[in-house]
Amino acid sequence: MAVHQFDGIIVGAGGAGLMAALQASKGAKIAVLSKLYPTRSHTGTAQGGIGAALGNMEPDKWEWHMFDTVKGGDYLVDQEAAEIMCREAVETVYELEHMGLPFSRTPEGKIAQRPFGGHTKEFGKAPVKRACYAADRTGHMILQTVYQQCIKQGVTFFNEFHVVELLMSNGAACGVVAVEIATGELHTFHSKAVMFATGGSGRMYKITSNALTLTGDGMATIYRAGLPLQDMEFFQFHPTGIYKMGILITEAARGEGGILRNGKGERFMERYAPTLKDLAPRDMVSRAITMEIREGRGIGGKDYVHLDLTHLDAKVIHDKLPDITDFVETYMGIDPVKEMVPIQPTAHYAMGGIPTNSSAQVIKDEKATPVPGLYAAGECACVSVHGANRLGTNSLVDIIVFGRRGGKGLGEFVKTAVLQPLPADPQVKTKARMAKLFDGSGSESVEAIRRDLQAEMMDKAGVYRVEAELKKMLEILAGLKSRYQSVKLQDRGKKFNMELLEAFELEHLLQLSEVTVTGALARQESRGAHTREDFPKRDDAKFLKHTLAYNEGGKVALRYKPVSITRFQPQERKY
Ligand SMILES: Cc1cc2nc3c(=O)[nH]c(=O)nc-3n(C[C@H](O)[C@H](O)[C@H](O)COP(=O)(O)OP(=O)(O)OC[C@H]3O[C@@H](n4cnc5c(N)ncnc54)[C@H](O)[C@@H]3O)c2cc1C
Repeated sequence: MAVHQFDGIIVGAGGAGLMAALQASKGAKIAVLSKLYPTRSHTGTAQGGIGAALGNMEPDKWEWHMFDTVKGGDYLVDQEAAEIMCREAVETVYELEHMGLPFSRTPEGKIAQRPFGGHTKEFGKAPVKRACYAADRTGHMILQTVYQQCIKQGVTFFNEFHVVELLMSNGAACGVVAVEIATGELHTFHSKAVMFATGGSGRMYKITSNALTLTGDGMATIYRAGLPLQDMEFFQFHPTGIYKMGILITEAARGEGGILRNGKGERFMERYAPTLKDLAPRDMVSRAITMEIREGRGIGGKDYVHLDLTHLDAKVIHDKLPDITDFVETYMGIDPVKEMVPIQPTAHYAMGGIPTNSSAQVIKDEKATPVPGLYAAGECACVSVHGANRLGTNSLVDIIVFGRRGGKGLGEFVKTAVLQPLPADPQVKTKARMAKLFDGSGSESVEAIRRDLQAEMMDKAGVYRVEAELKKMLEILAGLKSRYQSVKLQDRGKKFNMELLEAFELEHLLQLSEVTVTGALARQESRGAHTREDFPKRDDAKFLKHTLAYNEGGKVALRYKPVSITRFQPQERKY
């Protein structure tokens, strides 16, 4: 049995994991494990920008950014964490610039900024230019820049290692078990600290902007280890996915002046958000599109509307949105300079995740007790800076700011922490999971169960939710889980056995879907991205609180945790 020893293990090599590795490895022996080659992480697909109140184009303040974040998140945001994020966003963006990130520039050579949904000046008066960007390849540039810095600093990478288990002893994290994808061998990693930076879980849904690999592995691994997940009922639908494919068209297209039109050619957002219109937060725009479609005002009565860029200067489209122009041409055969683009809401971002404090330490209960040696950052974590709905550009800020803080904290922790002993047989659970999949007697395929799961979640736990449908979804999930027990793998080999890895991933999606739906059923209110048709109002008296979901003998058990409110009292949310 191969055992590798490090001071700290970071699982995931997206923006959060790499930023953490860069900090933690300054004084400690750190390894980064990633199921993907690092620069293929989903961070690389982020298009629109990273929000920071630099004030390069017009006056801006971090307090305004914080207000927008709190209001955008429908007041479920932990304000202490949001304050840290919006303050540190500014210095972190400059740090990225100094690492060599090629931002788009103003004529004077400053970092250029553009408007984005829900970002305003003077506490909601008008849109503000806050999103720093590198054309529509912002995430790509972040990932490449930080990866190069990690290489320069000599961070150890285990690429294409798929982590399947968290190891704990004496109540503390002490390592992970991973499958080496190329050989199928199991490896045990023994360490004083572990950080999860494994990204999102959008593959629960049929129409999604998320890469095939975003299956919530880190979240599900934590949940299986008996630790809670927070606020999983809040899943963001981005308004503009390419029709039927879900591939994202960045909100920057609307930031640059694009507008949405229904089947009658109307700019319908004027009715739903008179001040910010097409630049209202995503939850509102996705609901508005869904409502237009339901009321028969989709294009030709169908289930999509149009994103109209045809009134923009062709040069703006080509210079500032080159990649999305390419996508639209490649996938739809449409030139966005001349024709309108068919779009529909697409499952995009998990607001919920592994609960942490603002130092990225994983917490285990409603009193925010940290788990020694366990950290989480990025989309898999829930700090919570996004509350019930994330604003565009705030995920890249989140991964960079809290990846950096978590990396610093982990680096300090391992200097004095003792290495806990490994459990007696660290690979026993993983071997049992694998044996069941290889030796199963059933005839179910991973692909068929996943397809059914994604279609049903899209239908019953999407933009709008209602009790009867959520209950039905729980019954369906029970059926899908029992079908999963009869999965038998066709690929009997060890090398690059993607079917095995997809079986692990499907188990994660099933677990996370169950947590999502259970939380959604219990939350009898509408807040941010969670809209209950049977409870259309936000109910602060009963539900201004975070959900914590625990795995108790295979069933979801819910508890609740208070929200940190420091500067901004909950108000009615109008835009
Ligand atoms: C198309 C698209 C466009 C976006 N545009 C923007 C934008 O403009 N602005 C913005 O703020 N946000 C944007 N977002 C959201 C943002 O990009 C993501 O939330 C963020 O990049 C997530 O970063 P991360 O480091 O947490 O995870 P990721 O970048 O997803 O990385 C996850 C890492 O975990 C590893 N991993 C996962 N599971 C395992 C496992 N079992 N074992 C080992 N390794 C594992 C993967 O290999 C990968 O390295 C966009 C998202 C998408 C999908």
